[in-house]
Amino acid sequence: MKTKVYYLDEKNINTKALDEAAAVIRQGGTVIFPTETVYGLGANALDEKSVSRIFEAKGRPSDNPLIVHISNYDMLLYCIGEPLSEKAQKLIAYFWPGPLTIIFKKSKGIPKEVTAGLDTVAIRMPDDEIALSLIKKSGVPIAAPSANISGKPSPTAPEHVIMDMVNRVDVILCTSNTRVGVESTVIDISGETPLVLRPGGVTLEELREVLGEVEVDESIEEPGITPKSPGMKYIHYAPKAPMAIIRGGEIKVREKILELSKKEKDKGLKVGVLTVDENKESYGDYEVISIGSKEDSNQAAHNLFDALREFDKLMVDVIYAEAISENYLGLAVMNRMKKAAGFNIIEV
Ligand code: AMP
Ligand code: MG
Repeated sequence: MKTKVYYLDEKNINTKALDEAAAVIRQGGTVIFPTETVYGLGANALDEKSVSRIFEAKGRPSDNPLIVHISNYDMLLYCIGEPLSEKAQKLIAYFWPGPLTIIFKKSKGIPKEVTAGLDTVAIRMPDDEIALSLIKKSGVPIAAPSANISGKPSPTAPEHVIMDMVNRVDVILCTSNTRVGVESTVIDISGETPLVLRPGGVTLEELREVLGEVEVDESIEEPGITPKSPGMKYIHYAPKAPMAIIRGGEIKVREKILELSKKEKDKGLKVGVLTVDENKESYGDYEVISIGSKEDSNQAAHNLFDALREFDKLMVDVIYAEAISENYLGLAVMNRMKKAAGFNIIEV
């Protein structure tokens, strides 16, 4: 398959390229497009054949359901098989368009390939002009997972999608790096207490402000527990090198990373250290990447996936990462880091 790659200027998105991409979606093809979270790999959510092309392009297991992206409320009502609950209305009013995915009972219009056979469907309205405009012009909801090869870090920059996906999809629409940098928060509001199935771009603190009590699915912390969200069970976000997270007091963390790194270097191995701006000078002997100031979890989210891919480019043999605080977007960042490290956490 030959992929057409277009670069869009955010100030002037109404181009022929966007019209062409929308036509490709309508005709059953695949389009990669930017969203505020990460780049998505989209196809017509109402057509099972189109949807199967997404799984093929990513090498995604077919039991991992997709998120359906919509641009207006008529699309939402078409996709869901239940009346809008009060909680759903509140979440929609506060967080859409934005990085929040809500689980609903699915309507008959959504093929089972989208939901991996579940009777629920995950839906969100993205907060990105290109994404919204593509959905609007296509005239159909777009099913779209992150546009990476399954298992790799999600793509947040045009070069990431080009690297993974050229000749695997029909069209790639590129623009700048994505704003948020981690995927959407997935929330299940069907029970008494709303449950976060995947932490993401909308924080637990923000959700609690709007809904009151909100819990987090325990599998997010415990790798042994089967998650309620099927996709959470897979190895994900993994850089090529094995990675360990070091967690504890700041001084002890630094000492431990220096000790471990020296051992590996003495063996002739190339060591990568994932840290924050305030600490990066400490690791001068190694390949150091900072994800921003330790005070700013937005920066960490924005930079994390690029940092993980950067270590691949540097061809390091092992990565030691400082744990960051799990407040605000730090919860989503640490969730991705833990998965990237296969839950290999060293407490000091
Ligand atoms: P991605 O599209 O790669 O960002 O992944 C989508 C995430 O949403 C995965 O973790 C899925 O398991 C989750 N998801 C999609 N549909 C559902 C659903 N109906 N119920 C629970 N989780 C879902
Ligand atoms: Mg993904």
